[in-house]
Amino acid sequence: MADGVRDASSDQQERLHSYRAKRDFSVTAEPAGSAAREGQSRFVVQRHRARRLHYDLRLEVNGVLVSWAVPKGPTLDPKARQLAVHVEDHPIEYFDFEGIIPKGEYGGGDVIVWDWGTWQPAETDDPARAIERGELHFDLHGEKLAGRFVLIRRDEARPGKEQWLLIHKNDDHARTGWNPEDHPLSVKSGRTNGEVAAAPEALWRGDKPAGEAAVPLAQAPGPTWDPPTPDELAALDALGSAGRWLIQGREVKLTNLDKVLFPGRDEEPPVSKRDLIRYHAMIAPFMLPYLVGRPVNSHRFPDGVDRPGFWHKEVPSHAPRWLSRWHREDADPGETQYYAVIDSVPALVWLANFAAVELHPWTSKLPDIHQPTWALIDIDPGSRSSFDDVLVLARLYRVALDHLGVEAIPKVTGQRGIQIWVPVRPGYTFADTRAWVEQVSRAVGRTVPELVSWEWHKDRRDGLARLDYTQNAINKTLVAPFSARPAAGAPVSVPIHWDELQDPELRPDLWTIRTVLDRVRSVGDPLAPLIGRSQELPVL
Ligand code: MN
Repeated sequence: MADGVRDASSDQQERLHSYRAKRDFSVTAEPAGSAAREGQSRFVVQRHRARRLHYDLRLEVNGVLVSWAVPKGPTLDPKARQLAVHVEDHPIEYFDFEGIIPKGEYGGGDVIVWDWGTWQPAETDDPARAIERGELHFDLHGEKLAGRFVLIRRDEARPGKEQWLLIHKNDDHARTGWNPEDHPLSVKSGRTNGEVAAAPEALWRGDKPAGEAAVPLAQAPGPTWDPPTPDELAALDALGSAGRWLIQGREVKLTNLDKVLFPGRDEEPPVSKRDLIRYHAMIAPFMLPYLVGRPVNSHRFPDGVDRPGFWHKEVPSHAPRWLSRWHREDADPGETQYYAVIDSVPALVWLANFAAVELHPWTSKLPDIHQPTWALIDIDPGSRSSFDDVLVLARLYRVALDHLGVEAIPKVTGQRGIQIWVPVRPGYTFADTRAWVEQVSRAVGRTVPELVSWEWHKDRRDGLARLDYTQNAINKTLVAPFSARPAAGAPVSVPIHWDELQDPELRPDLWTIRTVLDRVRSVGDPLAPLIGRSQELPVL
């Protein structure tokens, strides 16, 4: 193993270890009054949308959460002096609460665990006394917040609503201009306040004893979409070569409907743009869960898949105004500024009319585009690889993932390969998922060196398969489940059950836009239950 690889993995192990250490604290049901560990008390910052948005900084001191409400939120910016209102202590059971507080109750609104970790008092052994005296210096070791902070009581304190200032010292962790609102996701669930409010998992009943106050709620399902109605489909069929299609309340302008985009396969008739549009509308309930909330890159073939296609990322000026888009703030001039975010049936129809044959969503989700939600394994066959070789490799991954206790599902690409999609919990970086997939892939590849090449350049791979872990990077993507591929007959990338790898009928391009709807109606989508699964990647 190369040095670089070993470094990456030991670095990752360290990070996972410290993550676990924090996680374990948070789920340990400790009796009130016990400190987490000598000199290692916990802290939490909850982002709380009540009558006014604020952040609650809570430090574990002598078995309670000593609390300050910080309207602008804590920051790493050493120039900021944030108002922090000292509020009543909270019970230790509130530490990892995330959910809603009923309207009408004190603090009614929604709460996420915005940051958590451990803290240590500085320059004192008696933090309770330092707080009483009105000045506490302390270090935070969180996932967002780190370094030396100071809380100082202002002179004109009103009892019960004491005004303090929260300041970050100018140390190695200081970041000028750092704004907590730019880091809006929960460290517990990866969700925003809005997402928690829409589908809360717990309710805080302030009128109950602390031990019973967090009431679990049945988990709300994710968003769902309806397919077009028979009337809407009839209206599409009735259009001439162009026209306006009213679907689910949106009007989509359609053009060149009878243009052939895909030649036929096996004596079948060719596939027109109307066929692709109809397919996008029909498959939407299955495909949209993989697209919603993510920037999407499109592989377009306006002259049909027999002619060269091109990648399209920037939302064009003629796109409908209702199309959701995301502005990439950190894009350089000349880079894509606005990406489409496909979150509705009409948006998927618009893409088909745009001859966007292949859809490649990012593996990270907005707003945190640097955190992947999927780790991707790509078995990329070489010119000499047979599909049997690909199946051998896929089965080896199955054994490896099984052994590790990792849940994942394979999908045929619609071309020649197989990919394996692994859901991951929030908090991993692309470097983490890339290093992890590389390690699993190296282990798999070592068992069948005759099938695999690690050469970067295709012409040096001697026709062998590549186990490509490099797609685990920002703005690198793999084709979406149920997206068509640019080949005769419009084959589709389709998730399959692991046992289907044994099916002698299986082919990587078995299903097309004409046949896959029957399949999903009968067997569903085996990958769907893994969407949003918060899965730890075990240390290798
Ligand atoms: Mn609050």
